[in-house]
Amino acid sequence: MKRNLLFVIFLSGFIVIVNTGISAQRSSFKVLAFYSTNVERDHVQFANDIIPFYQKLAKEKGFVFDTTTKWSNLNDDTLKKYQVIVWVNEFAQNEEERRAFEKYMNNGGVWLGFHVSAYNDKDTHWPWFVDFLGGGVFYTNNWPPLAAKLIVDDNTHPVTKGLPKKYTAPISEWYIWKPSPRLNKDVKVLATLDPSNYPFGKKDLITEGDCPVIWTNTKYKMLYFNMGHGDQVVSDPMQNKMFANALLWLGSLSKIKAKGHSN
Ligand code: ZN
Repeated sequence: MKRNLLFVIFLSGFIVIVNTGISAQRSSFKVLAFYSTNVERDHVQFANDIIPFYQKLAKEKGFVFDTTTKWSNLNDDTLKKYQVIVWVNEFAQNEEERRAFEKYMNNGGVWLGFHVSAYNDKDTHWPWFVDFLGGGVFYTNNWPPLAAKLIVDDNTHPVTKGLPKKYTAPISEWYIWKPSPRLNKDVKVLATLDPSNYPFGKKDLITEGDCPVIWTNTKYKMLYFNMGHGDQVVSDPMQNKMFANALLWLGSLSKIKAKGHSN
C-alpha cells in the first residue's frame, strides 16, 4: 500500500514535469495576425481561410497564434509581446502605426505579409515600406482572379522545400511590381509568375515582365506572399504546406538575434 502511494507521488511529479515541458514548448513563439472584415469581400474570404489554417497549425506545433482586427494594436506595447506579425490583406492605417511597425521590424521583429498587405503606389508616401519590401511599387494586376503557373526559383529554402520546380497555384489575383524586387541584391525570390501565363487575365492583363510572387528581403526577417485573394487560395495541400513551412520558418527566425538596425 505504502509502496503504491509512493509510486503515485512519483507519477504525479512526473506528470507535472511533462506538463511543464509542454507549456514551455507551447510558448515557443507568439504570432499576432492583423486582418480586417470591412475590406474587399475576396480579401476577407482569404482571411477567413488562412486564420483557421494557422490556428490549427499553432495547436499542432505548439506556438501561439492570436488575431486582431484592431489595427491600432500596431503599437509598441502590443508588438513587444509578439515575435511574429502577420498582415492578412491589410496594412498600417496611419503614421503612428507605420512608426510602430518600422521600429518593430528594425529591432528584429518578424513579418509575414499576404497579397494586398504590400500594396503601395505613388500616393502611399511611405518610402521605408517600399525599401522594406525590396523596392517594388504596385504596377498592375490581372483580372479576373486566375490559377497561375509558378516557377519555384529555389525549392531548397525552408519555405519552399519539397515543392516541384513548377506548379500551378490556385486561383488568386496577382500583382506585378516595378521595379521587380529581384533587382534588389538583398531580395531572395522564391517563386515567380511563369511568363508562359502571359497575357495573363481578361479584363486587366499582366502582359510582360519579371513578376516575383514570393520573396524575402534578407535585410529583415520578413516574407511576402502575393497570393491571398478569394476562397480558393488555401485549397491546395502542396501550397498549404508551404504556408505552414513559412510561418514555422519565421518563428524560428524570431529566435535569432537581431542584426542591429538603428531606430
Ligand atoms: Zn485582391
